[in-house]
Amino acid sequence: MLIENLGQVEKRIEEACKKGKRKREEVTLIAVSKTKPVSMIETIYQAGVREFGENKVQELCEKYELMEKDIHWHMIGHLQRNKVRQVIEKAYLIHSVDSLRLAQQIEQEAAKLEKTVSILVEVNVAKEASKFGIMLEETENFLKEISAFKHISVQGLMTTAPFVENPEENRIYFRKLYQLSVDMKRKNIDNINMQFLSMGMTNDFEVAIEEGANIVRIGTGIFGERNYL
Ligand SMILES: *Cc1c(COP(=O)(O)O)cnc(C)c1O
Repeated sequence: MLIENLGQVEKRIEEACKKGKRKREEVTLIAVSKTKPVSMIETIYQAGVREFGENKVQELCEKYELMEKDIHWHMIGHLQRNKVRQVIEKAYLIHSVDSLRLAQQIEQEAAKLEKTVSILVEVNVAKEASKFGIMLEETENFLKEISAFKHISVQGLMTTAPFVENPEENRIYFRKLYQLSVDMKRKNIDNINMQFLSMGMTNDFEVAIEEGANIVRIGTGIFGERNYL
């Protein structure tokens, strides 16, 4: 069942790559395993997946301890400042940096550990009140401020598009974020890389890939519906 799901997702990624004239190797699949047990993660791991995404620090840390150490754990959920210390030791990439205060906290804790933390800046492209992320128009200034932090390495941008019936409705948001990443790359801001564009989930990842995503975050499509108890 899980392996079939993964195969279906893989096929959909390949088709989207073809349609978007992208190479399959350009696009990284993150299996979003939040709320799912390690037994299921192990199945997907055995099928060759090494990138997993979690949205809660505690859950990420627990699974980190229980699973193979060659996994890259991606923190994709809203991050509270008091959880920064724990997560920066274990996360490969934090996708959800959405405020200067949070970046400052990461800088402080990373400095103590003498490490550099790779992050993405979360942008609320669709300007949804219910979502985290900075405004598109604020991104350049935000990047300029973060660029001063010696222990943070910005690797790109992330967004979570609205939940819609028809994924075509999100194309405009993906296109805007892609354009922003191109614009920001051209600015050559010190210490800021724009190599990653993390956008696209189970319902809309094909459109995201066509519009330039090179990281897609897929939960339901692989692990099935989540039960929140
Ligand atoms: C849960 C989650 C996903 C995966 O969502 P699905 O619709 O299950 O694929 C992707 N990104 C973020 C930030 C999430 O919280």
